[in-house]
Amino acid sequence: MSDVKSEEYEVIYAGFEAAISRYDCGQYCAPHNGGEPVCCTTRNAIPIATVEEWKFLKSRTDLWHIYQPRTKAERKIKEELPHDCRALECKGAALCERHNRTLSCRTFPFYPYITKGYDFAGLAYYWNFEDRCWVISNLQIVEQEFVREFVSTFELLFRKVPGELEVFRDHSASQRRAFSRWKRTIPLIGRDGGYFEVVPNTGEIRPAKVEDFLKHGPYK
Ligand code: SF4
Ligand code: SF4
Repeated sequence: MSDVKSEEYEVIYAGFEAAISRYDCGQYCAPHNGGEPVCCTTRNAIPIATVEEWKFLKSRTDLWHIYQPRTKAERKIKEELPHDCRALECKGAALCERHNRTLSCRTFPFYPYITKGYDFAGLAYYWNFEDRCWVISNLQIVEQEFVREFVSTFELLFRKVPGELEVFRDHSASQRRAFSRWKRTIPLIGRDGGYFEVVPNTGEIRPAKVEDFLKHGPYK
């Protein structure tokens, strides 16, 4: 997303300040993760920012530094990043600065679900965090304001960088393949609210009841 200039992140961040829920979700996942929120530790999730977003963050805070991989697997993740992206690490949850969170922090655990026909249908989650992220097992707590800001932020980004739509369309297809193997439907928060499920083999999106969505790991 290097077509978005660093100074534009001021407006993008201002348009995406809504909290994911009225609960402090970190207090639910941290006890299962050595006392730290799962998405705030690079052992679990490494925030990725474009060079321009990194430039913007550096200009207004010293919260972030370039992430230094500790293992061979982590080195591989860093090496495989697109050339215009940087892996970052913050000072930790105790020193979090809400207004200086990356877009990765703000959107987690969701990504924009894009259909085969290029429609931005809603919010799906990064499924490899099912066993660790409390929010994924409790989609009913996601605030409508968060959904609204998530959608308007990605619509803005897709207008500026149309290639990003393709990236998330591919990611959505990967989730359909994975869930098809597991014979499960994909939970979705609709872009205008409400809950849906994607039938992975056909891509059909149909209404769903949030109470029917599965709970995972320690949140069962
Ligand atoms: S979004 Fe998920 S992983 Fe991150 S703090 Fe909340 S419950 Fe934990
Ligand atoms: S900036 Fe805040 S939300 Fe983002 S990883 Fe650090 S502690 Fe977590």
